Amino acid sequence: MSVIEAVFFDLGETLVNEGEIYGRWADWLRVPRHTFNAVLGGAIARGDSYLAVFEHFRPGFDLAAEERARAEAGVPNLWGADDLYPDARGCLAALKAQGLHVGVAGNQPKEVTELVAGLGLAADVIGISDNWGVQKPDLAFFARVTEEASRGLGRPIGPDRILYVGDRVDNDVRPALAFGMPIAFLRRGPWGHVQSHDAADVLPRCLFRLDDLDELPALVAAHNALR
Ligand SMILES: [Mg+2]
Repeated sequence: MSVIEAVFFDLGETLVNEGEIYGRWADWLRVPRHTFNAVLGGAIARGDSYLAVFEHFRPGFDLAAEERARAEAGVPNLWGADDLYPDARGCLAALKAQGLHVGVAGNQPKEVTELVAGLGLAADVIGISDNWGVQKPDLAFFARVTEEASRGLGRPIGPDRILYVGDRVDNDVRPALAFGMPIAFLRRGPWGHVQSHDAADVLPRCLFRLDDLDELPALVAAHNALR
């Protein structure tokens, strides 16, 4: 295996705990949070989008219209620094301190661009799929990550020198491996736990399998020390 020169992080359920974000949607729809979350788990198990949950409780659900209604009602669909997992900041900072190029790159709407930039994470680059015009699991997303890492380091590097960290088997693990990019699978959040049951073919190929981000900096340092 190659030395790791750059580490890129997914956002949702990797750096950001989406519990309150989904919880506020449940509140808005007047569905008990426990029920909402269970239906979300069912959708994930079936391979459906999270939008299937809204459709289940409100057939014909219009996300854009409901977001406008929430903004007008004073409960906008926003999140912030309080929603970061407690291990997120420290992990990025520790990798940065190892001299690695650190990036954030996830499937997100362009509306969160300023919000993510304002979190003050120790990231050299922030990639938002909506701004890039390409999203996971498209392999072009991982090609863009490779371009950004090469630009940041000032020389071309291959995907084999970039570690991607994500919680989803379908959107993170499988396409990263298909692109030749090492992956750290983080088994947390609804997707990480539910999808881990159907991933026996790819989990052994993950460079690291994590339950939190605290352990990652030492694992990367140990990996690089052997190269
Ligand atoms: Mg995610």
